[in-house]
Amino acid sequence: MSADKVFHPRSEGIPSEGVKDQYADGKAARAWNKFIGDSNQRTQNYKDFLVGLLKKNGCKRVLDIACGTGIDSMMLVEEGFSMVSVDASDKMLKHALKARWERRKDSKYDEWIIEEATWETLPQDIKNFLPGVTFDAVICLGNSFAHLLDEYEDQRTQRMCLKNFAQCLKPGGLLFIDHRNYDAMINSGATPGHSIYYNCKYPVDIKTSVLVVRGKPELVTLDYCLDGAFGDGEKSDFRLCYYPHKLEKFTAMLHEAFDHRGKHQLFADFKPIDQVPVPGFYIHVMEKGKD
Ligand code: SAH
Repeated sequence: MSADKVFHPRSEGIPSEGVKDQYADGKAARAWNKFIGDSNQRTQNYKDFLVGLLKKNGCKRVLDIACGTGIDSMMLVEEGFSMVSVDASDKMLKHALKARWERRKDSKYDEWIIEEATWETLPQDIKNFLPGVTFDAVICLGNSFAHLLDEYEDQRTQRMCLKNFAQCLKPGGLLFIDHRNYDAMINSGATPGHSIYYNCKYPVDIKTSVLVVRGKPELVTLDYCLDGAFGDGEKSDFRLCYYPHKLEKFTAMLHEAFDHRGKHQLFADFKPIDQVPVPGFYIHVMEKGKD
């Protein structure tokens, strides 16, 4: 291990180096599909925000780079966008593939492209099935990017992935990327149980643990406990680990990924940031330089 690598203690349930797919055992994927996907339960605020900005900017071809079970992509397919959806987890993708298969007689769904790809090699992965294509918009939402735990102190893997995202955009294209308000979570040690993204009908309890290494928060572990998601009285627990992105640092990494020529806009829970004192989520919209 080189000197600039961060040491993550190998304790139970904390992914060790090289483990990428936190959904690989299928448990979280199944629960997630139930948790958010029982019906098209995206909140109206979320839909209005995303669809509104995409339409306002004339976006047509959209790449969802953390499509998971496909819930956001389906919302955009329904709205008439030409969707390409990728994810690193086959356990998550299988729910999206099933949803597309069930709707295949509808030409909108028949044209929906779903493939496996990872952020680390995104432009090459996309080139394999869609050579020469760039996108009007790339979305990476639902606190997805924080799944990438960088083993390097200088966050070089995350920075490289952000560059890959920018590379998939046309000049003038938009990247939508979000993260939870980790600044507030680290201060309070708590995670809001409600989500701005979905209307969940099950009670959700999220236990928050912060791993601090050499005085710096390195990892946030969220233990989700869903009551009744799988029938009477049955509980479903799963654990996900996240990189606790700080707002200021994350914004700087975005500017760097867009060669300091991108236009940055920041939203708090889909609203202008001065309207929400302590947001649950920050949503960044980066516009790629035009020349
Ligand atoms: N956007 C969806 C999924 C969120 S879960 C929603 O809001 O419901 C986060 C997703 O990011 C998971 O499906 C996970 O497999 C994916 N992911 C995590 N790391 C990834 C990586 N390095 N490359 C591609 N996908 C990744």
